[in-house]
Parts: sequence; structure tokens; C-alpha cells
Amino acid sequence: MKTISLLLLGALVLVCRALPAEARLTVITTTTDLRSVVREVGGDAVTAEAIGRGTQDPHFVEAKPSFMLKASKADLLIAVGLELEVGWLPSILRGARNPRIKPGNPGYLEVGPLVDPLEVKQGNLSRAEGDVHPFGNPHVLLDPFRAGTIAVKIAERLGELDPPNASRYAEGAVSFQKRLAERTKDWQARLKKSGVRKVVTYHKTLTYFLSRFNIENPAILEPKPGIPPTSGHILQVISLIRDAKVPLILVENYFDPTVTRKIQQEVPSVRIHTVPVAVEGAPGVTTLEELYEHLVSTIEGSRR
Ligand SMILES: [Zn+2]
Repeated sequence: MKTISLLLLGALVLVCRALPAEARLTVITTTTDLRSVVREVGGDAVTAEAIGRGTQDPHFVEAKPSFMLKASKADLLIAVGLELEVGWLPSILRGARNPRIKPGNPGYLEVGPLVDPLEVKQGNLSRAEGDVHPFGNPHVLLDPFRAGTIAVKIAERLGELDPPNASRYAEGAVSFQKRLAERTKDWQARLKKSGVRKVVTYHKTLTYFLSRFNIENPAILEPKPGIPPTSGHILQVISLIRDAKVPLILVENYFDPTVTRKIQQEVPSVRIHTVPVAVEGAPGVTTLEELYEHLVSTIEGSRR
């Protein structure tokens, strides 16, 4: 009788373990884009929360005690790295006092360095002049291909931390990656047809997106990443927009768009749009696919 009870108890434990609610990993991500990838990969086997909001400049997020509390309970913290979060993540990690998510441990993952970052500087690295991209451009999630690779890397780490669900994570990542590759063909065709070959942005946020779709980014409104526009620099950008016949300016929607007024006066033909550049950066942008679609339709001019 005792043996049967034990067997029953054992079976019950196994059944409970198989339920997602029991096995759930708690994941904290620094951005909403990363959270959206975790949800694609992990489905209901993980709970994922983001620290930064989609309407916030990811370089500058307030290290609130509430985030430290959430991080204190996390099994895994996922960051972009490349110094995107250097101004605020270290204080959250210190405040969380959670050895699982300490950099170097399995519960800490930086994805940016794993996906071939662009604009990596050679030689003397310095933030002294205000450049917030000293180790290369960290806005890697704006490229659908890199986002697919990031999904695979995240799936690997989730599988290491939660082996019973490893194959589920791997399948989730591969199907997400395939879907993105498929939709990228359509986005590529539409953007090619749009004829827009040059776009000026406020910050180098869309570097990966524009590069994936063969659109040049010949100037940014900031004189250097992280340095607000000056009137002298704006004058240079105006003459470049005229000379290079740039048809479109995209302003990431957490920056002040009023700097573009002068440009609009001087070059009335240029189209100017503010755009979300992260998941939940605007209503209706709840996934990375919706974000890319929003950007594509804005550039091709089918969105008002
Ligand atoms: Zn940046």
C-alpha cells in the first residue's frame, strides 16, 4: 500500500512538473524588443518582463527599486550589451543582489556581441566626446535577421537553464526565425519598390534596419550618437539633404521632433515622420514583426 502511495505521489509530482505553471522560468529583459523575442521562444513556459519601456530611449532608463526587486527573483536576465545599458543596468544588478543573474553566470546573457555588431570602432575607444556607441552600434534588434539569430541564442540559454523544455525553445526560435526571413522578402520587395534609398534619422537607431534593406543613412541629426543636435550641424544636414536628394527623415519618437522644423522650412519637399523604434513604442506595435511592418509602411508612404 505504501509503495502504491509513493508511486502515485511520484506520478503526481511528474504531472505537476510537466505543467508550465510549475516549470516557468522567470526572465527579465532590458528592453521590450528582447521581451518579445523571449515570448516568441518560450511561450507559456517562461514569464518575461522588460525593464525599459518601448517609448523610452534605451540608453537612458531610470534604475528604479521596483526593477531591482523584480531582478532579485529572476532566473535569467537578458541584455543587449555593447554598452546600451551601461548607464543603468549595473545599479539594478547591484540592487538585486541575485547571484544567478551576475554577469559571467548562466543567468546573465548579452546578445549584442553574438550577432556581428556594426560600427565597431578600431583603436582608441572613448566615451569622452559623448559617443554612446563606443563598442559598436547596439540597436541590433532592428534587424529582422539578427533578431532571428538572437532568438536562437536565447533558446539555447533557456534550454540550458530548463533542460526539459529545451527542444520546445529551440523549435520556437527556429519557427520565429523562419517567419521573419519569409516576411523580410516581402519587406525588401516593398521597400525596393518605394524608391526610397536614403533616410536621415535623429540617432543611429535604425542603422541595422536600413542596412538590411539597402537604404543609406547619410546623416544623423545628432552630431555624434548621444549628443543633441546643434544649429551648425543642422545646417550641414540641410545642405546634405538638398545635395543628396534625401526624401525622408525619420525621428525616433522619444526624441524632440522640433529640430526638424528648420529643415522642413528649408527643404519643404522632405517627408518627416516620427516613428516607434521598439516594441510597444506605439499603439498596435506589440511584436517585432509589427514594429518592422510599421517602419516599412512609413517609409513606403502607405501609412498616415
Ligand atoms: Zn544608440
